[in-house]
Amino acid sequence: MSAETADRVRRRTEALAAEGIDVVRVAYPDMLGSERGRDILLHHLPHAVGHGLAFSRAVYHTGARGDHSYIPGGLEAGMPDILVRPDLTTLVALPWEPGVAGCIGDVRDPATGLPVPESPRDLLRQVIGLLIDGDLTAVVGPELEYVLLDPDPAAPGGWRRYAPAPGHVYTTGRKGDPDGHLLRTVRALHALGLDVSGGNREFDSGQFEINLSHCEALDAADRAFRFKAAIKELAHAEGRLATFMAKPFNDGGGSGFHLHLSLVDAEGRNVFDAPRGAHGLSATARHALAGVLAHAPALSALLNPTVNSYKRFGPDTTAPWLINWGLDNRNALVRIPPERGGATRLEVRLGDATANPYLAIAGVLAAAHLGIAAAEEPPAPMTGQGHDMGTAAALPTGLGQALDALEADDRLIDVLGKPFVAAFLTFKRDELARFQRYVTDWEFREYAGIT
Ligand code: GLU
Ligand code: MG
Repeated sequence: MSAETADRVRRRTEALAAEGIDVVRVAYPDMLGSERGRDILLHHLPHAVGHGLAFSRAVYHTGARGDHSYIPGGLEAGMPDILVRPDLTTLVALPWEPGVAGCIGDVRDPATGLPVPESPRDLLRQVIGLLIDGDLTAVVGPELEYVLLDPDPAAPGGWRRYAPAPGHVYTTGRKGDPDGHLLRTVRALHALGLDVSGGNREFDSGQFEINLSHCEALDAADRAFRFKAAIKELAHAEGRLATFMAKPFNDGGGSGFHLHLSLVDAEGRNVFDAPRGAHGLSATARHALAGVLAHAPALSALLNPTVNSYKRFGPDTTAPWLINWGLDNRNALVRIPPERGGATRLEVRLGDATANPYLAIAGVLAAAHLGIAAAEEPPAPMTGQGHDMGTAAALPTGLGQALDALEADDRLIDVLGKPFVAAFLTFKRDELARFQRYVTDWEFREYAGIT
């Protein structure tokens, strides 16, 4: 750390102390997209920035329930360190945790000083770099849905939906949100600096959607990552569970993670806009759209990364069903919202809310980049409900198929890098294998009595 940086960090530390902060929570995303990190006492911050906080690299190889995957650089290498340095540009007081400020950490391999391939934030940076080479900046608006649950020992799994009455889509107020969850939450997220624009009840029972304003892609991923962590943390503080599961209940719909994407040039002009182009779209917009569609099967591994994800897809679900696009049509995998000019954008509706925001955005940008580089053209837009399987290819029907599609997509792998894709495939195939060995309640219900 230079003398100048050391001085800046010392002054920042003093300013935080003056604000009553005595702990800094340093968080970074794992491959699942969940927060890993450490709470450090404020006096340790200069050391953390200078040296980094040590964690085992095996953190990236650890599943949601602690299962371990054998990925190079982890267990068999002796679980060596990664070093995590607080990114002070992301530091903000946590509104729900007095005296604590949170920030995102940047991960380095101490042996090389370089990022490790599993680091999702660095993967996204790498993909953004390709677009910037072409002088384009990606602008992303993340839209996340989740279901809020109350504890209920009598319910399967121990949780029941908060405010479960149906029919509250787009409602505000106490009728669909009796204890004001949404108001408390949007205020807390605003205080966290997430640039939330608003929120409302979604279609399903107990389901909410909160919108984040659009911004540069890395910033958008950081905010989506912090959003998910904050929603979960706020729910835990109330003894609740907020789930981003793709489809948490058989009798309900899924939770999406829609990504609104546009590209702007060095002058800040939206390059998707072309008032004289077909549908008001430029050639760049068409190529980016074609890239997303061409790589959709592989992308689903990143945007629909769980066994459960594939149960969200279907006709008449408002989640995608076929690999298609439409003009202001919510049945399509890519919807082109009606606005043009500076707001011309693709709404990629493929992702579900379990997706790691960094990997989802990196995947979509990589596919758009490939479509632009190869000047790919999309098929004709779909219209209506888009049920007809004769009109477009279907999405993978399960995680295994999606992982195979990713493994087979050489062009996407060239952009994302072989080491990352190999680590991701091993990690996810282990998850799938655990599921395949597990006896589910469906099997018992279906087979125990009759067979
Ligand atoms: N819940 C739907 C999904 O899983 C999206 C609903 C909407 O259009 O906002 O993608
Ligand atoms: Mg929605």
